Amino acid sequence: MDRTIKSNNRAEGPLGGLNQSITARPRRLRQTSALRGMLRETELNARDFIYPLFVRHGHKLRNAIGSMPGVFQLSVDEAVREAEAAARLGIPGVILFGIPAEKDPVGLENFAPDGVVQQAIQALKRELPDLVVVTDVCLCEYTDSGHCGLLNLPGSEYYQPHLPEGYVLNDPTLEVLSKVALSHAEAGADMVAPSGMMDGMVQPCAARWIRTGSNICRCCPTLSSMLRPFTAPSVKPRRAPRSSEIANRTRWTRLMPRRRCAKLPWTLMKGPTC
Ligand SMILES: [Zn+2]
Repeated sequence: MDRTIKSNNRAEGPLGGLNQSITARPRRLRQTSALRGMLRETELNARDFIYPLFVRHGHKLRNAIGSMPGVFQLSVDEAVREAEAAARLGIPGVILFGIPAEKDPVGLENFAPDGVVQQAIQALKRELPDLVVVTDVCLCEYTDSGHCGLLNLPGSEYYQPHLPEGYVLNDPTLEVLSKVALSHAEAGADMVAPSGMMDGMVQPCAARWIRTGSNICRCCPTLSSMLRPFTAPSVKPRRAPRSSEIANRTRWTRLMPRRRCAKLPWTLMKGPTC
């Protein structure tokens, strides 16, 4: 006699009736390939990708990046060719990272009208008008320190004696970021992607656009999560494409082991308006 039925009136099963507590059985929807295909909610296609391009000054340059096989630093003309190839595959957009001719404490080329990214934006929009051109907006590719922000250094106009020397200055960095965002927008970028993890970094970009009378107000904080949100070992190989090597970023990037830490900065970065 079945002891399970006798003792507690539950259906017989390998777990002695315990499986009666399962009220939903979604495994039934995964039984066949046709069912799984029919019920799929997320499809990943070429049109979902944004192709990263690392642009540098020069002509017909394709400099291989050792830490990322198959990835190159490209001169603007080569970047256009690469974007054309991506577009033929159905990839609708590119994101640009710039390697400047010279680096300095502020990263002046970052917001120069003839900066390498600004040149690339214009060439891409001229040759491939339908291509979505996104730009990385950060300082680390352009500063001689390799940090994503201005450093607290004696003699600098931003020097704050109450803060440690070498401290990454959040608020003065926002001023530079907003200049970069405006410069990219004026060059014709469809979207900018602040990625430096500075607190409040999106709102000043939008504010500067509005202040300057630009009708462009497009910023994409979501994209920045794809760029470099965490302090993690996996970040290191991605520094090389941008020729940006630094040591310690742990004081202002997100901490991988803290989930709450990953969520909070979005609120802080966005600010009151966007
Ligand atoms: Zn950066």
